[in-house]
Amino acid sequence: MSVAGTPLEVVLATHNAHKVAEFQHILGERMPGLVVLPYDGPEPVEDGTTFDENAFIKARAAASHTGRIALADDSGLAVDVMGGAPGIFSARWAGPGRGAEANLELLLAQLGDIRDPHRTAHFHCTIALVVPDAAGTPFEYAAVGEWPGRIATERAGVNGFGYDPIFVPDGFEVSAAELAPEVKSAHSHRARAFAALVPELVRVASRLGR
Ligand code: IMP
Repeated sequence: MSVAGTPLEVVLATHNAHKVAEFQHILGERMPGLVVLPYDGPEPVEDGTTFDENAFIKARAAASHTGRIALADDSGLAVDVMGGAPGIFSARWAGPGRGAEANLELLLAQLGDIRDPHRTAHFHCTIALVVPDAAGTPFEYAAVGEWPGRIATERAGVNGFGYDPIFVPDGFEVSAAELAPEVKSAHSHRARAFAALVPELVRVASRLGR
C-alpha cells in the first residue's frame, strides 16, 4: 500500500464536492502534498446512535470499498436541556426534507419556555479516520471537536448554515451566523476536530514513509 516519497492520499466518504474541497484546503495547508479524493462508491445506511458510530460507518465503508485510507465526518447540535437533541437528527429535526429553516424554527419553539442560564448547547464534530491494513486489522481514530455556546431566543445573521443563526458561541455576544466566515472556521467544532486529526494523520503518514 505504501510507496515511500509519494504523497498521502485519503478518500473522503462524502458525495459533497464542497466538503471535499474544504477538507483538501484545511488538510493540504497543514500537510503539503496530501490529496483528498472524493468517494464515489455505495453509501452505507447511517444507522448508528452517536456521531462517532455514524462517522465510522461511513469511513469503514469507504476504506473497505476503496482499500484506501478513509475519512468521514458527522456533526450536529446538542442542546443540554433536551438531553443532547437534536444530536444525530440535526439535519432532519423537523422531519425529512423539511430543511434548515424548519429545523431551526422548531428548536426555537421547543425552547420557548427555557430561560438562560439553561439554554446551553454545543456543536459536535467527529472526523473518523480508518487506515486499512492488509493483515485485516484496520487502525481507527476518532478526532472530536466541540464548540460550546447557548441557543439565542431569536435568529440573527446570514452567514454560515444550519443552526448558526440561533447559536451564540461562548466568548461571543453574536450568533455564529454573524461571525465572519474566517472567525467561525478558526473556532468551530470542525476546526477543533481538524486540530485533533492532523497530528494523527501526520503519524500515519510517517509510519507509511510519506
Ligand atoms: P453534517 O454531519 O456536517 O452534514 O451536519 C449535520 C447537521 O448538523 C447539519 O445539517 C446542520 O443542521 C447541523 N450542523 C453541523 N455543523 C453545523 C454548523 O457548523 N453550523 C450549523 N449547523 C451545523
